[in-house]
Amino acid sequence: MAGGMPDRTFLVNVFSQVDRDRSGAIDAKELQSALSNGNWTAFNPDTVRLMIGMFDRKGTGTINFDEFGSLWKYVTDWQQCFRSFDRDHSGNISKEELKTAITTFGYRFSDQFYEILMRRFDRSGKGGIYFDDFIQCCVVLHTFTQAFSQLDQDRDGVITIGYEQFLHLVFSHRV
Ligand code: CA
Ligand code: CA
Repeated sequence: MAGGMPDRTFLVNVFSQVDRDRSGAIDAKELQSALSNGNWTAFNPDTVRLMIGMFDRKGTGTINFDEFGSLWKYVTDWQQCFRSFDRDHSGNISKEELKTAITTFGYRFSDQFYEILMRRFDRSGKGGIYFDDFIQCCVVLHTFTQAFSQLDQDRDGVITIGYEQFLHLVFSHRV
């Protein structure tokens, strides 16, 4: 895992590079162009939105310097995680690599479900998931697993929910 927080001077430096218009806050556009998949594709705007939503404590829709440290650490930790599971250093996560990653996170899924994940998150259609979609995939899994466990009170992995409750679950977790 990454060490602690980097020093303030370093963060100030990175922040000012990302905050291109020098407004004192990082918006979705600035964050998107700062983040990289390493393959010249635009970073998934859903992942950008997700990150801003996660660290924008003041609800301004942007990230100010006080919020930036945690965002920086989050991105760096994901980068390390991504690199460690990209065993063949291809720059993306194959189905086999995804299996290893997700199993390491403590999930158990059938092969069929990995097919579904690949179809949904391999946006390039080349048999690999890039950095932005890898984050998206893991966060979506985590979010829905948490929502499920809240309803699965006896922890048997099965829930019975009504139609409206189901819709509520889907619509209240826009991921
Ligand atoms: Ca700005
Ligand atoms: Ca790979």
